[in-house]
Amino acid sequence: MSDAPDRTPASAPTPLPAPLVPPPLVAVLGGGQLGRMLGLAGLPLGFRFRFLDPTPDAPARAVGPLVVGALGDEHALGETVRDATVVTFEWEGVPADAARFVERQHPMRPGPRALEVAQDRLLEKALFLALGIDVAAFAGVDDRAELDDAVESIGMPAVLKTRRGGYDGKGQQVLRSPRDVDDGWEALGGVPLILESLVPFSREVSVLAVRGLDGTTACYPLVENTHVDGILRVSRAPAPGLTPALQADGAAIAHRLLDELGYVGVLAVELFEHDGRLLANELAPRVHNSGHWTIEGAECSQFENHIRAILGMPLGSTEPRGPTAMVNCIGAVPTPGSLLAIPGVHLHDYAKVPRPGRKVGHITVTAPDSSTLDERLGRLRDVAPDLFTGVARAN
Ligand code: AMP
Repeated sequence: MSDAPDRTPASAPTPLPAPLVPPPLVAVLGGGQLGRMLGLAGLPLGFRFRFLDPTPDAPARAVGPLVVGALGDEHALGETVRDATVVTFEWEGVPADAARFVERQHPMRPGPRALEVAQDRLLEKALFLALGIDVAAFAGVDDRAELDDAVESIGMPAVLKTRRGGYDGKGQQVLRSPRDVDDGWEALGGVPLILESLVPFSREVSVLAVRGLDGTTACYPLVENTHVDGILRVSRAPAPGLTPALQADGAAIAHRLLDELGYVGVLAVELFEHDGRLLANELAPRVHNSGHWTIEGAECSQFENHIRAILGMPLGSTEPRGPTAMVNCIGAVPTPGSLLAIPGVHLHDYAKVPRPGRKVGHITVTAPDSSTLDERLGRLRDVAPDLFTGVARAN
């Protein structure tokens, strides 16, 4: 027998381990790069994520389990939202019926109404108008006679767009002559359309704002966006030359929409600046490409603020840390080595299979002041010129 003292307490029972409570689960409809960045922002806050996406290699699979299925498939939806604390979406193409199916069982933030409005350009423009938000002249077009009437009343140049399903400039035609009217009808006719007057804007900007569960709102500074062939290429935040008056106008637009929709989460509104006025083009009921700069460029990113909002937490500050630019990687991500030698440069590779025209990553450039930002963007352009194809030097 050992002489060692017996250290086992005579009577104290061994305490049972506390039951493991799994962290709250956020179910996300869509598993693209926006879902991935929502997960990257929400994991440090202690949340779990599960995603639904039709493609097995969806980028969000890196930050949570992925259910592979159609976004309208009730079985796949059920599997995705099982045990979820809250359900959100990262793609506005989620069928409104699917959103309603989910909403019957779980809190869905933002709700189906925002989706419905964002999916139909005519409903969207009508809502802007009803809320006193300026828009280009527009008319719904369901047949050829209505197109002729709309051209007559709106005039040319004008843009003919499909009411549903268009993105990144797809599903639209600019009409400048009677010949274009025939061609536009030929190309797009047969589905519900909208004709809008072509706004001779000085630049495109966007406003991103967030509304919490308690109705508190916060707005990021307006962003200047440069598109090439309908695809966002460069965002600058705050928009160069942003005045307090323009910021107030942009924030008022966002806040009116947030309140009207009883919205919870991040909302983006794409706007045209024309003659010092803002005209609303479209809204995105989700985190947005023109808000990616906030990851490094703002106190609290759009992704973290969306997570905070939908889980009923206090919102984070939307203040910018300094002038910031975001450059999209379209078709390919440049080799990191040369980029990362530039101060203030941050690379986000979405781990997507490269394909022409596909958003596969983005690069954020931060700087203490705008001339340093210009200088860093110039260096980025030198080492990765493809990023700036078609983008004027000022960017
Ligand atoms: P959208 O799909 O509505 O975002 O349009 C894609 C791009 O087409 C916009 O970013 C603008 O550059 C241009 N665009 C769309 N609608 C108009 C309009 N009414 N006036 C001028 N440009 C427009």
